[in-house]
Amino acid sequence: MSPALTFALFAAVAIAFAVFYLFFYRNWRRRRELQRPFPRAWRKLLVAQVPIYGRLPPALKQKLEQYVQLFLSEKTFYGCDGFEVDDRVRVTIAGHACLLILARSYSDYDEVRSILVYPGPYFATGYHQDGYIVGTEQEVRSGEASTFGQVVLSWDDCEFAVRHPDSEHNVILHEFAHQLDYLDGSADGAPPLSGALAQQWQQTMTDAYGELRRSLRQHHESWLDPYGATEPAEFFAVLTEAFFQQPTQLRQAQPEVYAALREFYRLDPTAFK
Ligand SMILES: [Zn+2]
Repeated sequence: MSPALTFALFAAVAIAFAVFYLFFYRNWRRRRELQRPFPRAWRKLLVAQVPIYGRLPPALKQKLEQYVQLFLSEKTFYGCDGFEVDDRVRVTIAGHACLLILARSYSDYDEVRSILVYPGPYFATGYHQDGYIVGTEQEVRSGEASTFGQVVLSWDDCEFAVRHPDSEHNVILHEFAHQLDYLDGSADGAPPLSGALAQQWQQTMTDAYGELRRSLRQHHESWLDPYGATEPAEFFAVLTEAFFQQPTQLRQAQPEVYAALREFYRLDPTAFK
């Protein structure tokens, strides 16, 4: 057999294997995972740790359980600074993260591989640019998301979200919203959207972001956590927190923004409040 033919055969086998893995093996593995019953202990944890779970209609409750089951079978959790990751931690994080994709495809989280959990706020190196000079400084963080499929969370802040489901802060929703933003390859505050929805999103969010920044500059009371005014990517993440935690207030303050988020998430959280 000529070297060229050997190479062509090898390439064909490699491509066939990749296609099988991407389109068949993963789905087969997921179907097999979902044949296992959802553990009762995890259901109890969802009730205790993910307040919105108890208010979901039965079909969405079941869907959340299925997504949590897949999430916990595929993502790796690491405890940092001596923190011990147990089922309570894993179900709390998976339950909130999967809320965001409850009416979307589970494949939205295919690129998320690992979740690092610190016991509380942690130090990380931040970069800032002043003209041509790039400097670094130590920052205290409660969470972060990376385009490399990693989410970092402070457990103290996760617990705050569990205890205050109506507040404007939920670090888990926030960081996983960033992961959805990354789906189209850029952290620009616009998750993947198509056609008319993309155009409408652009217009609505640009106007709302501008209005938020203007009202903060003029020292008016803002309709959103001011952190959302730092950059468009944060605007989307903070809006996502408000959409799920304070949907009635957000719909009242910014009906068009609420409608755009409802189109993207394919959910109306005012129905679960
Ligand atoms: Zn953020």
